[in-house]
Amino acid sequence: MTTPETIAARDPREIWEIARSQLRLQMTKSTYDTWVRDTACIAYEDGVFVIAVNNAYAKDWLSLRLRPTIKRTLSNIIGRAVDVTFAVQPVSAGDAPATTATPLLDLEPRAEGVVSENSTDGGSALNPRYTFENFIVGPSNRMAHAVALSVAERPGRAYNPLFLYGGVGLGKTHLLQAIGHVAQQNHLRVLYVSSESFTNELISAIRTQSTDQFRTKYRTMDMLLIDDVHFIGGKEQTQEEFFHTFNALHAANRQIVMTSDRPPQAIPLLEERLRSRFAWGMIADIQPPNLETRIAILQIKAASLGRHVPDEVLVAIAQRAHRNIRDLEGALTNVLAHAEVAHRPLTVALVDDALSYLAPAQSKLSPEMILELAADYFGIKVSDLTGRSRAAKIAIQRQIVMYLIREETGASLPQIGDLLGRDHTTVMHGCERIAQELEINPEIHRQVVELRSRLHEPVRVR
Ligand code: ADP
Ligand code: MG
Repeated sequence: MTTPETIAARDPREIWEIARSQLRLQMTKSTYDTWVRDTACIAYEDGVFVIAVNNAYAKDWLSLRLRPTIKRTLSNIIGRAVDVTFAVQPVSAGDAPATTATPLLDLEPRAEGVVSENSTDGGSALNPRYTFENFIVGPSNRMAHAVALSVAERPGRAYNPLFLYGGVGLGKTHLLQAIGHVAQQNHLRVLYVSSESFTNELISAIRTQSTDQFRTKYRTMDMLLIDDVHFIGGKEQTQEEFFHTFNALHAANRQIVMTSDRPPQAIPLLEERLRSRFAWGMIADIQPPNLETRIAILQIKAASLGRHVPDEVLVAIAQRAHRNIRDLEGALTNVLAHAEVAHRPLTVALVDDALSYLAPAQSKLSPEMILELAADYFGIKVSDLTGRSRAAKIAIQRQIVMYLIREETGASLPQIGDLLGRDHTTVMHGCERIAQELEINPEIHRQVVELRSRLHEPVRVR
């Protein structure tokens, strides 16, 4: 369907960016960051993409191990078989424009460290896109958003430290940097750093005997934003240094905000004194977004790209890409790219083709599947949930099921009522009750989170 002319008419660098955003979904973060992130497409000739890499080692690794995956990914995007080779040529280590809000054609290497004047050397620049204005709020992140906002507005006074945790691609870095933007606007000295950079900086300070400078730098900040703090697990010296940094800042009422992929008590090899300090202020989690929130995010993304995308297409994308928001953004980019490359209209059929790389096991959740999975999770029978029992325990389990079906499938209240043998007002009441309980009842919160993560396991037991 695609002719060579359409490829030629399209910037190969753009196609490489799309490929990178898909590769990002197909490998671990560390593989991606090490081998794929700092690459660029420098030529496209006779069906062969020439990709620049930083050194011979990367070239070998990519050629030997990742070439088939990369070839397949590129071929899928373009709609016909293409090949790829790698050339050693320094690539600037700018942040990968992997997400949709970066204009696809803006591929010029960007200057590093475009930082507002309040920011200091050593930390990374804040992504201008990661603001509160651009953050869509739904039930899965309402709490985290609210506490982040109060910390941004009253640093050092609202909650200190603030500890945000959640799975990959759910918006932790976005929220963390949103706090940083507000603080910078208020002329605070803000330092945003990943815990890996913190570690590397510390190691190099030790090597060059400049630990005093390192300490001064960290301890004179008004706000320290540490991303992915779980990486300090097992790193003794880093933990020791961070312990003192933490104490110095906290004692001076300077705000500390951390993100992590799990709560403090679940971070392996973390010293007890840090674990307990992480829990001194506020701990808030971010859960995977529900269907409605995913659709809202897609609408805004599409609009920010200046694209009109029919609602049913957005719904189809949101149903397919449900694990996290990064996948969701990648999926939208991918559908738009497919439409453009293949000159096809934006339809649900196109979504099916463009997103075939999402494992088919992640197909749509049906209300019946949720019912069965929940019964299994609670250790009861489906007929207990659909039956007449008014026992308090079963009643609340039934309401959790109503809530999850509504959130995950967008089924209507009467549809859920039919399935559970209840009328629609009972279902509405049940959904509202669980939404309230989630905010205040840790046990119900835990059950909903666990059940939801089971629903989203890649291979679902049917
Ligand atoms: P994490 O740090 O949790 O892995 P990120 O903060 O990097 O996730 O988010 C991944 C992508 O999803 C980013 O492009 C971010 O802007 C976007 N994103 C996450 N949460 C939201 C949200 N609630 N509204 C809009 N965009 C979001
Ligand atoms: Mg992050």
